Amino acid sequence: MTISQQAASLWPQGKRGCMALAFDLDGPTGDAMLNGTLWQKADYFTFGAYGPYRALERILDLLDDHQLPATFFIPAWVVENWPKQCQAIVGRGHEVAYHGYRHESFYAISAEKQLWVMQKSREIFWQFLGIRAEGFRTPSGDWHPETPAMLLEAGVTYSSSMRGDDRPYLISVPGYERPLVEIPGRWEMDDYASIAY
Ligand SMILES: [Zn+2]
Repeated sequence: MTISQQAASLWPQGKRGCMALAFDLDGPTGDAMLNGTLWQKADYFTFGAYGPYRALERILDLLDDHQLPATFFIPAWVVENWPKQCQAIVGRGHEVAYHGYRHESFYAISAEKQLWVMQKSREIFWQFLGIRAEGFRTPSGDWHPETPAMLLEAGVTYSSSMRGDDRPYLISVPGYERPLVEIPGRWEMDDYASIAY
């Protein structure tokens, strides 16, 4: 059996494929905005804050119109600062998943700091949204070798961080029986690359 035949046989009821709609509600947490002088500049801050203040509501209405469920990856700092907007995402039936605290690069920070970010995210999601998220997207698209084990320990069952396929695949984690499910994104399917610049 070839790989494509194998994949085709997995779709139920004659379906030929599927798609996951995912939005990163980063707000103004881009690294350059939080860690440098850009944080002090109102135009850059509002550029990011437009997401939770205005764009989110429009996206939620659009998803309602088409009865489409989606996933929102949100830095926990955004949940703290826009709690009502983030509660509306959960209230309207969508999934919310982890995306760092302040949109950290998981490659650039230590294992201890990564653990702190995950613990802080779990606390904030529980406190403001009443949920334990199952999904995680690394803000910078990379991580350390120890990150997958840390994610499993934090109750995460899937990641959407990597680029290794156009179908989901499994990441085996040394020392753990259960693998991490990876639902990869593709740059050509990501509007950031074409719109942000
Ligand atoms: Zn992001």
